[in-house]
Amino acid sequence: MFVLGKIIVLDENSINKIAAGEVIERPLSIVKELVENSIDAGASKITMEIKNGGIILIKITDDGKGIDPDDVELAFERHATGKIRSADDLPKVMTMGFRGEALSSIAAVSEVELFTRTIDNDFGMNVFIKGGNIMRVKQIGCPVGTNIIVRNLFFNTPARFKFLKKDTTEAGYISDIMTRLALSAPQISFKFISNGTTLLHTPGNNDLSSTIYSIYGREISQNLIFAEYKDEKFIITGYVGNSAVARSNRSQQSLFVNNRFVKNKTVTAAIDEAYKTIIMKNKFAFCVLKIDINPLMIDVNVHPNKMEIKFSEEGELFRSVYHTINNALTKDIILPEFKTVNKQVELVPHIDNFKQNILKTSDYKFYNKTDDESNHISKPNIQYEPNNKSEPNIQYGPNNKSVLNADCQTNSKPEITVDYGNDIHEENKTDLLVSEDPPESENNKDYFEQLLEEGTIIGQGFMTYIIIQLGEQLVFIDQHAAHERIRFEELVHQYENAQLHGQNLLTPEIVEVSPKEKILIKAEKEFISSLGFEYEDFGQNSIMIRQVPLKNFEYSPAMLFKEIIDKIDSMGDRAKAQAKEILYDIACKGAIKANKKLDNQEILQILRGLADLKTATTCPHGRPIILKMTKYFIEKEFKRII
Ligand code: ADP
Ligand code: MG
Repeated sequence: MFVLGKIIVLDENSINKIAAGEVIERPLSIVKELVENSIDAGASKITMEIKNGGIILIKITDDGKGIDPDDVELAFERHATGKIRSADDLPKVMTMGFRGEALSSIAAVSEVELFTRTIDNDFGMNVFIKGGNIMRVKQIGCPVGTNIIVRNLFFNTPARFKFLKKDTTEAGYISDIMTRLALSAPQISFKFISNGTTLLHTPGNNDLSSTIYSIYGREISQNLIFAEYKDEKFIITGYVGNSAVARSNRSQQSLFVNNRFVKNKTVTAAIDEAYKTIIMKNKFAFCVLKIDINPLMIDVNVHPNKMEIKFSEEGELFRSVYHTINNALTKDIILPEFKTVNKQVELVPHIDNFKQNILKTSDYKFYNKTDDESNHISKPNIQYEPNNKSEPNIQYGPNNKSVLNADCQTNSKPEITVDYGNDIHEENKTDLLVSEDPPESENNKDYFEQLLEEGTIIGQGFMTYIIIQLGEQLVFIDQHAAHERIRFEELVHQYENAQLHGQNLLTPEIVEVSPKEKILIKAEKEFISSLGFEYEDFGQNSIMIRQVPLKNFEYSPAMLFKEIIDKIDSMGDRAKAQAKEILYDIACKGAIKANKKLDNQEILQILRGLADLKTATTCPHGRPIILKMTKYFIEKEFKRII
């Protein structure tokens, strides 16, 4: 009988199994360790193949130096490493691995088969290990290099197995790390295959820009600027993107310190600071930055799964990274490509038809239209949100930026301040100025119908608020919030009644996607289609979009698609259950913006849309749509009545 409390020394196998729990959390950890070993072995070609997110199979093949027959069994022992001799070597370690824990940990929790040969041997070695027990070691004919196959991960540790996520989620993690490993070593040609599909294939020509091109595609590559910086402590090189390729999360930011992919909050903060005036809030720039530094100034002894790295000189690091990016962005202004947006122009109905149709058709969708009814592109004062900020010469109105940013901020209230004056009693305030109309659906609907039928359009304030006079009231409507609400209700209605119709593109648009995005796009095709997108595979790192939920002049189909992919990715498992949150985003992207001139027909169209709604007092983000000011209040202020 097992007696608790009696001290024993664990057997080697148990030790390895426990250690494996720390080193091998999920398939991603195995992939990372195996690829790092191949890099350390001087490989020029590395092929990584996975099945079912690596849970069923992980197979790596390299053409590195191989393992000597005398060492093959030793390599699977804990703390067996050919890379350092003692802890004294730690400060100057230049290899990716040095702990000698990976192979033993992997072998402890799976079935591992190894084929390896060095150039000095005519024969190779084949080892088969299951749950840490060596089942077979034999000589075999094989090419120089190493081939490791890992099967049935966590077959003997069910608790770990239970913590694995969906295959596609695990595959997503792996593609992320493969992308980073490929960027870390442009001299190596990487191939990554998931369930038989090649998702990544880099040239291995030692050129970072062509490596980036092969991973992220043409569009991103054309919007990158080379960055470099050097002082006594840091040598920094890399590529930074302009605003056209900014995304809603940091998945396109990669930092490498001495060629190791790491994370560091100071560097992230410096990147954000450098882009502060260039890209919108909540957007993140593309960047691949490589920092070379004396190894003594960093702590390499970070846990293998925690990629967070510490520097001894964080303040200087911040300044250096900031300058690297800032210099690049100011020396070389790359205009974002307007081509994709241009294509959209033909989708905008001719303005005369717009006017004729608007009163007849109730299902007309708003497209943006400039003041002078010509298209935006010829004008300097354009309002493509994501694009125009990369070009500092474009003239923004002084408030433009804050207005654009304010469009979709959750729960922010419009800044209308009203001074009630001291002579007005507290209890009268609501009679005077009613903000956020009471959300009684029936009354509300009637109210908007009344507005539509009896109101007089006064015009637009600040190109943002529609002003209507109705009886004894002046009514202000936030045009963006209102239109967003209308579009949102349409989308939800369609979504809940089977499927979103979406709008066909006259010309299908090719969108370049990263390996990780490709996995998500394939896995969630049914869901993404139910949101009104229609697309198909189009080569290794592209897809072709035929339909989007809503067409909008300011958001090209590609931009809308990427936004929504980012959203689904960041929502993870709750995306389907909370699809309305995604519909909010689509509605917001498809709605007319603040700071945009509207004519009376367009204003009428918004009123008609509001009258068709059931409840319409707030935009989907919770901001009010409507504010009222009474005649009584105005007259009181002017002392016409006392
Ligand atoms: P570490 O990388 O920390 O040294 P590992 O457990 O990952 O420890 O690997 C143990 C040893 O096996 C390495 O030090 C290396 O000598 C050898 N090895 C592992 N993978 C390869 C490979 N792909 N090619 C050549 N040698 C390898
Ligand atoms: Mg290793």
